[in-house]
Order: sequence, then C-alpha cells, then structure tokens
Amino acid sequence: MSDQPTPMMAQYLAIREANPGALLFYRMGDFYEMFFDDAVAASAALDIALTRRGTHLGEPIPMCGVPVHAAESYLLTLIRKGFRVAIAEQMEDPAEAKKRGSKSVVARDVVRLVTPGTLTEESLLEARRHNFLASFANVRDESALAWVDISTGEFRVMPCPLARLAPELARHAPRELLAPEGSRLDEIAHEAGAALTELPAGSFDSGAATRRLGAMFGVETLDGFGHFSRAELAAMGAIADYLDLTQKGRMPLIRPPVREALGGAMQIDAATRRNLELTQALSGGREGSLLAAIDRTATAGGARLLERRIGAPSRDLDEIHARQAAVAHLVAAPRLTADLREALSRAPDMDRALSRLALERGGPRDLAGIRAGLTQGAAIAAMLDCGDVRVLADAARDLTGHDELIDLLDQALVAEPPLLTRDGGFTAPGYDDDLDETRRLRDEGRGVIARMQADYIAETGVTSLKIKHNNVLGYFIETTSTHAERMLAAPLNERFIHRQTTANQIRFTTIELSELETRILNARDRALEIEREIFARLTRAVLDRAGPIGQAARALAEIDLSAGFADLASGQGWTRPKVDASRAFEIEGGRHPVVERALKRKGEAFVANDCALTSGETPAIWLLTGPNMAGKSTFLRQNALIAILAQAGGFVPATRAHIGVVSQLFSRVGAADDLARGRSTFMVEMVETAAILNQADDHALVILDEIGRGTATWDGLSIAWAVMEHLHATNRCRALFATHYHEMTALSARLPGVENATVTVREWEGEVIFLHEVRKGAADRSYGVQVARLAGLPSAVVERARDILHQLESGEDQGAGRPAALLDDLPLFRAAAPIPAPAAPAKTAASAVEDRLRGLNPDAISAREALNLLYELREML
Ligand code: ADP
Repeated sequence: MSDQPTPMMAQYLAIREANPGALLFYRMGDFYEMFFDDAVAASAALDIALTRRGTHLGEPIPMCGVPVHAAESYLLTLIRKGFRVAIAEQMEDPAEAKKRGSKSVVARDVVRLVTPGTLTEESLLEARRHNFLASFANVRDESALAWVDISTGEFRVMPCPLARLAPELARHAPRELLAPEGSRLDEIAHEAGAALTELPAGSFDSGAATRRLGAMFGVETLDGFGHFSRAELAAMGAIADYLDLTQKGRMPLIRPPVREALGGAMQIDAATRRNLELTQALSGGREGSLLAAIDRTATAGGARLLERRIGAPSRDLDEIHARQAAVAHLVAAPRLTADLREALSRAPDMDRALSRLALERGGPRDLAGIRAGLTQGAAIAAMLDCGDVRVLADAARDLTGHDELIDLLDQALVAEPPLLTRDGGFTAPGYDDDLDETRRLRDEGRGVIARMQADYIAETGVTSLKIKHNNVLGYFIETTSTHAERMLAAPLNERFIHRQTTANQIRFTTIELSELETRILNARDRALEIEREIFARLTRAVLDRAGPIGQAARALAEIDLSAGFADLASGQGWTRPKVDASRAFEIEGGRHPVVERALKRKGEAFVANDCALTSGETPAIWLLTGPNMAGKSTFLRQNALIAILAQAGGFVPATRAHIGVVSQLFSRVGAADDLARGRSTFMVEMVETAAILNQADDHALVILDEIGRGTATWDGLSIAWAVMEHLHATNRCRALFATHYHEMTALSARLPGVENATVTVREWEGEVIFLHEVRKGAADRSYGVQVARLAGLPSAVVERARDILHQLESGEDQGAGRPAALLDDLPLFRAAAPIPAPAAPAKTAASAVEDRLRGLNPDAISAREALNLLYELREML
C-alpha cells in the first residue's frame, strides 16, 4: 500500500507547516485533535491519553484530543506551561464538503494563535490583573519599550535604554515579550516571568510600523497621537504586526498609544519590587504583598489601576496632589464613599467586555455588561457633586452622556441574557416587531401540537398516542406496537403515514404535522436569524462608542481607586502626606501596612515609629543597629512603602508625613533572599549595590539592609563602610542603612549627615524583650545570644556563648584592639591549650552541631532553610 497521506492528513500537514512554533488544535467535529509531536507534548502537559490514528510514512501517528466545550481550561494549562496554540477551525459545514465529493475534506484554517500575551477570554485572564504584551526595539542608538493589554485596550510606549529594560519589565510584568531575532533577551524575559517571542527583523521595521499603526487605528498619519521616535515606532509596529498574526486579521480594540516619559514615574528596579513585596510576596502569592493589604477596590478595573499606580508611583506633583485631593474629599464624606463603593460593586468590567465584542468573541452578556456599567456610571456621576476636585469632576463628566446607548440596550436586552448568541433568547419582547411575531408563531406552533395530539387521540381512540420530537425524525406521532394493526389499516392509514417501526413503537406523520413542523422550524430559524442581526446591530452601536465607553471605564476605575484609598485611610487611621519638591523625609508614627495587618490577626499591636531623613536642608542617612528580630527590616521597608503610597496618590500609614518627591527607590537586602537565582549570592549583592551607587540621584531613597553579610566579617564591614561613605559624599541621597556591624556606628561622628538609630530591646531576667521602638542612638549590644536562646538553641550552647561574649567584651573594655586579635587570645581558639572539659551531660559546641546535623534530612529541606541552617550552625561554633 502506498503511504500517501490521506487528504485530511495532507491538509493537516500543510496547516502545521504554516504555523511553526505552536501546538496545532485541529478541529474535528466536537474535538480539537493534536497529532505527531504536538500530541506527545500536549498529552504530557495536559495529562491526557495519547492514542494512535492511522499511519504516516509507515509509522503510526500519535494523537490526542480535547473536547471543544472544555477547550478553554486545557488552553489555560498549555499557556501557563509556556506553549502557544494555533486553533484551526472548520471553515464550512461538513455537509458542504460532502457535496463536493466523497474524498473532499472540510475546509479548515487557523483562526487564531493563542499566546500568553494575547488572551481575551474571561476564563483565561485574571480579572484584577493586566495581561500585557510587551515589545522591545532598538533602532541605532535608541531603544524603546511598548506594551499593550488587548483585553482592555491599554497601549503605551516609552524610550527605554537596555539597562532600564529589566526594571520596566518588572513594573509591567508582561506575559510575553516581543523582540527581534537574535536579541538575546532570554534571561531578562525569564527573570520578568515573560515568554520571549522572537520575530523577524521586518516586524520591527520603523517605516512599516507607521503603515501598520495607521491601519490599526484607521488614520493616515500618527501625528495626532504625538511624536514618536523611530525606536518607539518600531516597538509599537511589532505589536501591531504580531496582533495581526495572532488574531488573523481581526484587530482588537486598542486605544491610541500614550507616550510615557522615562522620568514620569518613581523608578523602582526589579530587586526592589521583589524585596518590598509590592504586588507579590516573596513566597510567590499575592497574599502578604502590599497590594493585598491595601486593595479595597470594588471593581476589576479599579484593582488593575491600583496595581499600575503602586507599580509606578508618580513624580508629577500636580498629578499627586490632584489624586490626593480626590481621596481627601471622599475621606471627608464617608456616606458618599460607602454609596459609591456599593454602586461600583455592581459595575461590570466594561474594558474587557468591549475588547471581546471588538474581536467577535463577545456575547449578549458583554452587551449587558456595558449596559450595567454605563447605568451604574450614570448613577455614580449623579452622586458626585465636586466641581473643585478635578479627578472626580473629570470622572463624573466621562460617566455622563451615555443615555442614548443605555436606553437602546435597555429596550433591546432582557434583564439577564444568556452567555451565548447561538441559542437566542436575549432580545427583550417589544423591541422588534418582526421578532415578536415570529416568536409568537414558533410558540403557538407548540400549542397547536398539543391540540393536534388531543384530536388524534379522539380520532384513533388510542389514548397512549403521543406527538414527540427527535433530531432525526423531527416531529412524529407515536403509538405502541400493540396498536399497529389498527393504525396501519384503512381508514387510518390514509392519514397516518408510516415512518418507522422500533421494537415497541410505531411512528407516523401526517401532512398537517409536517406542515406545522416546517412552520415551527422556520419560525425558530427566523427568530434566531433576527436575533443574530440584532446582536450585530447592538454590537456596532457599542463599538461606535468604544472611545467614550473606554473613558467611562477608566473613570469608574479612577473613582474606585480613590474610594478604595479613602476607605482604607478612614478604616486604618491613615493621613494625607505632604508631598513637595523638597528633599524632606519626615514620618511620624509610621507603620508597616502588611506587618501591622499580620500582627492584628494574631491580636498583637504594631509599634509606630518616626523617621526623619533630613538634617536642616540636606538629606540624611540613618544607620540603624539593633539585634536580629528587633524590627529593623520592618522599619526600613515601611518607610519605602510610605513613599510609594504617597506618590501613588493615596494616604499613608502614619500620623504625619512630609515627603520630598522620591525620584528613584532602591532597596538591597541581605544575602538570604537571593538563593533561588543561582548566582553567587555575594556577587548578586555587590552587582545590585554597584547599580545603586552608580545610579542613585539626590532625590533617591535608598534602603540597605544588612549589606556585606554575604562575605567574611571584615570584608563585609569594610564594604558596608565604604558604601556608606559613597552614599553620603557622592549620591547625597536619603538612605536607611541597617547593619549588625556595631563598628559602623562610629561613622556618625565622622560624617555630618549620618545619624545613628536603634531598635530598642530590653533585657529582663536574662531574657530579651523586643520593644520595636526606633530611637536615636546606637544599640549598646547585639543580644544575639539571647535571641539564639529564644530560637531554641540548647542551653549549654547559650551558656558557652555567654562566656565567650563576656570574654570578648571585657577584652574590648581593656582596649585590646581589634576583636580579631582578641580572638586569638581566647582559649577557644588556642589550639594547644586544652579547653577544660565541660561537666557532663552538658555538650560541647561541636557535638551540638553534630547533633543538629544528625537530626536532619537534607532531602527534606529547602535551599532557603539550608542557608538559615548554615547561619545557625555557624553561630553554634
Ligand atoms: P530584623 O530586621 O531586625 O531582624 P524584622 O524587621 O524582621 O527584624 O522584625 C521581626 C519581627 O518583629 C517581625 O516579623 C514583626 O512580627 C515584629 N515587628 C517588627 N517591627 C515591629 C513593630 N514596629 N511593632 C510590632 N512588631 C514588630
């Protein structure tokens, strides 16, 4: 037998070849089938059965499939696992193909390429998060980053030198990054959690970009949108090209691009974002992040806006003040805020409904969503009476003027329309006369059938006679076979035409019944057709107003964000910060919103603390010392978070705050947090520290926690010392520096802008009590030994440590010089001198270490726990 592929397989292979780099979902009836390597990969990724079907070149063809009705959840899994999926649909009714001949194959074509950055389905998206597709282009010496969310239409671009790419990706967290082939951005994309898609250089051609963007927005020239550099055009053009490729010509509804200035937002790099747990906790989830602690928004659009604002706090004082004024207005009007929030909670996600309608993936519920959104919007606008509060007044304006569309949708749609257009039933009675009439015919037909059945029973005397319906026969009359003789004989056989005999039944039709059936079917089909037309008309009416509806959606998000901030501020006792152009950083009674929330759940109180990073006119650096667990990191982070919240336009967790606008925020924390990244932790720490020292300008805020901890003590101290001097003399920025090197407190005497501060603890009956109070001055001692005891170190080890500490401290008192020299004098380190044997059963430090090691299963601990253990073991020595 020849091994020519079957016509269907030939079609499959052709489509397969035209869509490289994606799994092919090949529609066959109610299934999407996958073949060959696709089947092997997909069956493993989806954990579904791998089977075979026919042969190709003498080999069996591996195959697997997913049912069409459940395809979305499989798609989601594949996309999450990094696949792209090309969806090939049947482009005609199989009956059409049959008419062409028995060998003819149903026409199929790829209607869409599903990729992480181009999702629109509600079930594939996270409602409260953006789904960005980013694009990075380089033209000569310039480069630019563009990003778009096709599910909401948000489209932005900014100049972006390669060095800024990682932090900008960290800010937007795109799902997918487009870059020219050979751009070597794999690692940067991976770090940002984005799938990298490399496109041919032609996609990034800046000349073609103008044409592509012009076509996308239906304009001759882009001048109306502002002036763009060639790199910016190239980045945006690649997005337009990719959308065309993935959506197969159906263009999503994208708003005109907005150009962002490089310096418009507070710069926050990737490590700092991670570290401060802005939108994600270090453990990975949203819980425990700043976002989770402060999100009081009632709508998905508001939640997305909040994430954007926290990710990019403004540096524009006008903007910050305008946003604060809106929050302040609502804080002063708690009733209004509560009413607004209630109304907002009933406003659906218009952005995403609009985008689905534009892509022809929408349904009646999306129309109803627009109706409900605009209706709530109008009600909200009516509540807002605040001419002098710009943000709210602008929003109220954008929410009015939609009455005509609301009326149209109100008249046309039933209260709760079905999800799909397919089965109709979404058009309200009274909207379309033709439809009403057709529906009456259809429904009457059903009544007529009931009457007809009664007549036939009377006529035949067969009381069990029924008129039924199935998909093969349509309407038919059925009696049990016991009545066969009677029904098949004259005179009944003149009217009752035999159609089918089954084991127990005989089925008939009549001329009357088939006429009626045709009328019912026609009426049903006609009703569906009318409804489809109505849907198309309503969709057009909505899309004609896509711009104003988008504005209204943004207005709702803005109001939601302000109301959420206001609710938070009132509920948590937050205050309006004074933000100006100075370099002040004065916080009174500051708190850490996330730690405070966690403590509250345990019934514990958070201790508020002040921070003043200004001495006279010039910025100052605080050097913070104190034992582990005292609250140093918490204090550092809370001040950074307060700056972010202030510039995001919200109130802050403090009793008073005065912040000179922060241009850049840097934070660097101790070694323990970088293990997962696979580079030498000390190297990472130094690379990031170098970045801070090279970049921080005089409006920056720098947070350094335990820097130098990744190396030997004296190296670490020297580096920390030099970093501090550099920050003070060269960067001249505001900084908070936490360290366990007490030696550094001497710096404050030498450098005028450096002040010592410490987190207080009290010792009580040999126990250490953490007061979590930050006060000026240096910590007198580290209390490490007491903390070790709290952590459950064997008491013999704690006692021994106390002895050594005592000896070290008395050595220092005698001015014995560097502790290193002193160490040599200690009996512990003098190899020759035997250490007096400790009284049994107390254990030596060595055996305690051994015990600790023996009691542990290396396979059962994480890398992080292993590092902690190393610290613990070293402290035991
Ligand atoms: P350090 O950085 O000094 O080791 P952390 O900042 O990690 O200490 O704080 C340790 C723990 O102390 C926190 O998890 C928190 O429970 C508690 N804590 C910190 N600061 C405060 C505070 N201001 N008020 C109350 N508890 C606090």
